[in-house]
Amino acid sequence: MIRLEGVTRRYSSRAGDRVALDNVDLEIGRGEIFGVVGRSGAGKSTLIRTINRLETPDGGRVIVDGEDITALDAKGLLKARRRIGMIFQHFNLLNSKTIEANVAFPLMLEGRPKAEITARVAELLAQLGLAEHAKKYPRQLSGGQKQRVGIARALACGPQVLLCDEATSALDPETTEDILNLLDQLNRELGLTIVMITHQMEVVRRVCDRVAVLKDGKVVETGRTADVFLNP
Ligand code: ADP
Ligand code: ADP
Repeated sequence: MIRLEGVTRRYSSRAGDRVALDNVDLEIGRGEIFGVVGRSGAGKSTLIRTINRLETPDGGRVIVDGEDITALDAKGLLKARRRIGMIFQHFNLLNSKTIEANVAFPLMLEGRPKAEITARVAELLAQLGLAEHAKKYPRQLSGGQKQRVGIARALACGPQVLLCDEATSALDPETTEDILNLLDQLNRELGLTIVMITHQMEVVRRVCDRVAVLKDGKVVETGRTADVFLNP
């Protein structure tokens, strides 16, 4: 489903060049829940952002469902991003908009007809247990509820892939468990391929089928979660 081939990303600064990703090869199967772990600065965030090209690699290719994301023009990229949803540590909701407007946002950008947007948003809010919060604003919700809104927005265009950038790192353990159960369920029911980066090993142990360990921009280990993290 997702293939990184020799992906390299460098940053230049006055202090010199830094290689955030160093010739990374990775293959993530359709319907997998795949984790990327590593210390702060290892390159996790840069890696996940190459998958929807929030980050453009300096070298290598990123193939999503047979399409080379690194080669797309602006129009092609917009289209490809409908297939790739993303959620964030701090939710990135639009605070001046209601919950329903946040979820509608990607559909409006796509220029969907108003009636279709209304119906789709209602469906998503019901599916994620948010119907009663439709008219509220993000500040009125708990962290877990805000992440549910983030997930609803990410699912709006019917993606095949969901990218999770430290999606549970700002949540308490109980809420984390709730969001992980939800991701598990979406994976099973929609066949959604999920890629998550996290520094929380217990999160990876709990939901990921396979995992890659990043160190200094290199994949130093990859395999089934149970094999990579031998359970004590
Ligand atoms: P992680 O997500 O694992 O913490 P990142 O992908 O954020 O790692 O960062 C990898 C490396 O790239 C780090 O050394 C970081 O300082 C550097 N880096 C990331 N983004 C930038 C940027 N926009 N400009 C310069 N250096 C960056
Ligand atoms: P406010 O209405 O509170 O000023 P902003 O427009 O500043 O909200 O955006 C709030 C957050 O949402 C920011 O973190 C921003 O990066 C994020 N954001 C803005 N537009 C989008 C978008 N299209 N998709 C995802 N996140 C977005």
